[in-house]
Amino acid sequence: MKHSPESAWRACLDIIRDNISRQSFKTWFEPLKAVGLSDEGGLTKLTVQLPSQFYYEWLEEHYFALIRKTVTKVIGPQGRLYYEVVIEKEATDGQPGVSVQLPANPSSRAPTRPRAESVGTRSAVYPPGMGPPVSPQPPPNPFAAPGLLKTKFDSRLNPSYTFERFVEGDGNRFARSAAWAIGQQPGGTSFNPFMVYGGVGLGKTHLNQAIGNYANTHHTAETVLYISSERFTAEFVQAIQHNRASDFSIFYRQIDLLIVDDVQFFAGKEKTQEEFFHIFNALHQSGKQIVLSADRPPKEIDGIEERLLSRFQWGLTVDIQPPDLETRIAILQNKAEEDGIRLGRDVTEFIAQHVKNNIRELEGSLIRLLAYSTLRQSEITLDLAREVLRDLIREPQVQLTIADIQRIVCDYFDITEDQVRARTRKREVAKTRQVAMYFCKMHTNNSLKTIGLQFGGRDHSTVIHAYQTVENQIETDAKFSQMIEDVQHRISLRSR
Ligand code: ADP
Ligand code: MG
Repeated sequence: MKHSPESAWRACLDIIRDNISRQSFKTWFEPLKAVGLSDEGGLTKLTVQLPSQFYYEWLEEHYFALIRKTVTKVIGPQGRLYYEVVIEKEATDGQPGVSVQLPANPSSRAPTRPRAESVGTRSAVYPPGMGPPVSPQPPPNPFAAPGLLKTKFDSRLNPSYTFERFVEGDGNRFARSAAWAIGQQPGGTSFNPFMVYGGVGLGKTHLNQAIGNYANTHHTAETVLYISSERFTAEFVQAIQHNRASDFSIFYRQIDLLIVDDVQFFAGKEKTQEEFFHIFNALHQSGKQIVLSADRPPKEIDGIEERLLSRFQWGLTVDIQPPDLETRIAILQNKAEEDGIRLGRDVTEFIAQHVKNNIRELEGSLIRLLAYSTLRQSEITLDLAREVLRDLIREPQVQLTIADIQRIVCDYFDITEDQVRARTRKREVAKTRQVAMYFCKMHTNNSLKTIGLQFGGRDHSTVIHAYQTVENQIETDAKFSQMIEDVQHRISLRSR
């Protein structure tokens, strides 16, 4: 009996339907359309149209055997199935869609993926004899006309996030060496996907972009793309709004090294997750490299589908831990050197000791310090660092006691603490006592009464009087005012 394309395909579908689940049939076979049946060189060629390149990959990967048997049964041993993929071109260039012919070669399966022969800007024709990827090397990019993407493609990488600038320490050593291996051979290691997780500001973005920068500079991957999951989501939503969802899909399937940052933000975005799931599968199946980051271990991310979470962990999942003191010092010194500043060891140590959990804050401290020293035209000293970084470094605030202040003030004026606590009215002692009361009122939460009691049982009006006297004298006596500032300085050093 002579078949039309439709009847041949319908006969095939009847067989296929009986062999797979309803859901799979609906998803993968119902959208296909028979578009041609012709005899060519002793073969009978049945051509069906696929909605996207991804269908082609999926069908070849999952239904190859079934399709071969079916076509042979319906058309005979000379039967061959051909796929035609319609690629929607960007609306801007006004060209009609381009279709791509992909033979599903039921009689032989070559061990490697097709080599793309470029025809025009966004279409490609594969020679017969292809199969799904077996080689670990990324296959040539079917949508890339040679030389076109290379010059035009924006990887969206920050060029300063390189391996050279990434300081290695115990907390990131393993992640770094895995990342390095991936950079050498994207898609060619078993670290696919590569998932790095850890707290904010620990270098996840830097490290993952270093892979991308390396691959670009050393040409180990042709198309590299860095994108945050938020931006991915936003662009996907936009693509849907403008009926460009298939362009979106096609765009992502041409990437050789895809870096998606902060995947925890996919949580709750079901449609986006689904799209990413398909992109992930397509890339992974064709040996492309996927690099991911998250702020916590994948299994702790809520709101992301299980099938996606499990894929995140197919390859290598590593964490980055906060850097230890030595690493923090090294990072600061590197950074200072890059900026051409000389920093005293005491200053780097001070910052490194106080900013522990976040490298971004470590860098922020340095920048702030630099800004102040430039503004004030003063050297970067430990004192300046203490002052400038006061709120940034958030040292545990020490709540000073009356005794603490008595000690600091007495030390400064060289009077014993016993003397200020006694009832003596000697002039220097009285002055020291007033200053100490002044600072107690300023820096402790004690009532005037309590303060008075600890200065030899004086009453609250004495404390008020002391406070006002000191204030007045600061106004009128420059030398005194300077002394008060010195004492204030000593107190602030103690209270941080
Ligand atoms: P995350 O993505 O984990 O929040 P980032 O990669 O954005 O962290 O890092 C924050 C800042 O700290 C960046 O400026 C980055 O260059 C720097 N940084 C992080 N880790 C290192 C490191 N090991 N060596 C040098 N700089 C680092
Ligand atoms: Mg980040």
